[in-house]
This record gives sequence, structure tokens and C-alpha cells, in this order.
Amino acid sequence: MPKHYTDFLAKHGIKSTHQRNLVLDLLHQMNSPASAEEIYQKAALLQPTLNLSTIYRTLELFSSKNIVTKTILSETKKAIYELNTAGHKHYMVCVKCKALLPLENCPCALIEEAVSSQGGFEIIGHKLEIMGYCSRCK
Ligand SMILES: [Zn+2]
Ligand SMILES: [Zn+2]
Repeated sequence: MPKHYTDFLAKHGIKSTHQRNLVLDLLHQMNSPASAEEIYQKAALLQPTLNLSTIYRTLELFSSKNIVTKTILSETKKAIYELNTAGHKHYMVCVKCKALLPLENCPCALIEEAVSSQGGFEIIGHKLEIMGYCSRCK
């Protein structure tokens, strides 16, 4: 049975349901971002009555409340989700095996600085994806 995140969800203005608890629990167990399909496959093992659209809606809800970070990979156009622990993240994407390797830190401070020095533009976010071959595939 999933742990109960009732208080946590209430803090974000979300009603606690069994599915939402389950999805949160799965997100806590993952150590890399996953697509809605991957999360669904894990969830369905625990609760076969769940369907993919429920998982998808739950993830979108969490994303709208900043509980999870949603990243859309440009190559596959696939959305991946993970718990929003330390703000946003960037990944190195292996174009061969599709491995996602997170960058330790956001390297974009200099770019944001350069943009803000141009004046007149307010930055609200950025995206960065580094494509290449991982150590196994190169
Ligand atoms: Zn690879
Ligand atoms: Zn960044």
C-alpha cells in the first residue's frame, strides 16, 4: 500500500486520492525521470484498475502545482517527469540508448546574465539539452 501524502497534497491544494498517493510513492522510488507510460507500467502492477490517462492527468496536475518537473525531450517529443526536488534539471541525452544523465548543476547562469544585460527581456526559465553518446555507446 502506498504511503499517505494527505498533508503534502493538501498543502498544494490537491485532494488526496489513492491514485495520487500511489503515483507520488512511485515518483519517490524512482532515481531517474520517467515517462507517463513507464510510471503507468509500475503503477498497474500495484493497482491493475488504473489506466494510463489517470496517470497522465495526475502527472499533469502535479506538474501544474510544481510537485514534479516535466521535461520534454526534443528528439522524441516525449515528456518525462520526476519529483521537483531542487528546481529544474538538465540532462545529457544519449542519442543511441536514450540514457538520461543529469547535470549536477545548471550551467545557464552565464547565458541568463548575458540576456539580462541586453535589457527589456524578463527571463522566466530556460531549456537546455545536451545530445551525444554515453560512455557505453561511444
Ligand atoms: Zn548510450
Ligand atoms: Zn538551468
